[in-house]
Amino acid sequence: MILDDIYGVILERRRNPSPDSYVSALTTKGKDAILKKIGEEAAEVIIASKGLDKQQVIHEMADLWFHCMVLMAEEGLSHSDILKELEDRFNKKKEQDTSGCIFCNIISKETPAGIIYEDENVTAFEDINPQAPLHVLVIPKKHIPTSLGLTNRDNELIGQLFQAANKIATERGVAERGFRLVMNTNPEAGQSVYHIHLHLLGGRPMHWPPG
Ligand code: 5GP
Ligand code: ZN
Repeated sequence: MILDDIYGVILERRRNPSPDSYVSALTTKGKDAILKKIGEEAAEVIIASKGLDKQQVIHEMADLWFHCMVLMAEEGLSHSDILKELEDRFNKKKEQDTSGCIFCNIISKETPAGIIYEDENVTAFEDINPQAPLHVLVIPKKHIPTSLGLTNRDNELIGQLFQAANKIATERGVAERGFRLVMNTNPEAGQSVYHIHLHLLGGRPMHWPPG
């Protein structure tokens, strides 16, 4: 990616200052000089944006972006630090969007649903439209719309979902006979509630492949 290429050059010019390099000259003046430059570039973005010339806005934004990268090098930051922060904010926003989620309402007990298991992070309840003698939904209390929204931060949570399902399967006497754990993702798989849930199905022989 071009950002990584440019950042690589900035790091190189810091490590091995060369007399005709703009970055070398700026960084040898110290952090205050970089900060001053960022302030100036931000002001230039504002001025350009007040005008009508889109190309000028692009030009000034590129200048600002470039100087932010010079500061990143000064602070010892990498693009992945900034990208991770943006990603976390984006994911948090998605997680917070629980309005109208039927399963969040079941977790908060606003909507009754025979809850058969609950701990700090997991809730489990009988499916309203059972597809087998035992059909339980095991869900995280955290609102995650689909399995595609899972991140490394959820690794432990996923383990907890499976362990809760195992516990219920054992208690309901299907552990040894056999049971099925299914998570549907997105329309073609038949996902109808966009808060991830593990279907625990048991109590009858099952076919494979599933329909
Ligand atoms: P999906 O189709 O998303 O994989 O599974 C959603 C499941 O949630 C379905 O099996 C459906 O019967 C169940 N379900 C939907 N709404 C409710 C509800 O309000 N209460 C309960 N207990 N189950 C529900
Ligand atoms: Zn939810």
